[in-house]
Amino acid sequence: MTRPNHPTASSSLNRSVQGRPLPTRRLWLLSVPVLALGAWAVGPRRAQAQMPASLLEESDPGAQGLAYRADAAKVDPAKNPSYQAGRTCANCSLYAGEPGQPQGGCALFYGKEVAAAGWCNAWERKAG
Ligand code: SF4
Repeated sequence: MTRPNHPTASSSLNRSVQGRPLPTRRLWLLSVPVLALGAWAVGPRRAQAQMPASLLEESDPGAQGLAYRADAAKVDPAKNPSYQAGRTCANCSLYAGEPGQPQGGCALFYGKEVAAAGWCNAWERKAG
């Protein structure tokens, strides 16, 4: 027994099927442009996040200020008395690169990577 003022679930479903489009279909149609806009907005940022950082150039003002050389063997000890053979970015405590990789991050050069074989006069012995 059904009461006329309280539609049952099935009568509500029938009304949406017979009359207006189902709300779920309308929501789906509205979601298409929203999802497309989201993909457009996120896509370039994701691609940017996956791009490798650029290698620090010796001509970079910050690099020049610390006498950075991409190849530590080319450091002039007369001009850089703190340099000693064997000191490279790879064994510097500020280096964040993975062992065995040719380049990696440095705490001093945000957004850039330095050569593992490089050196600058901020070199600090890596612990361990
Ligand atoms: S601080 Fe260390 S890792 Fe960074 S450039 Fe200088 S020597 Fe290389």
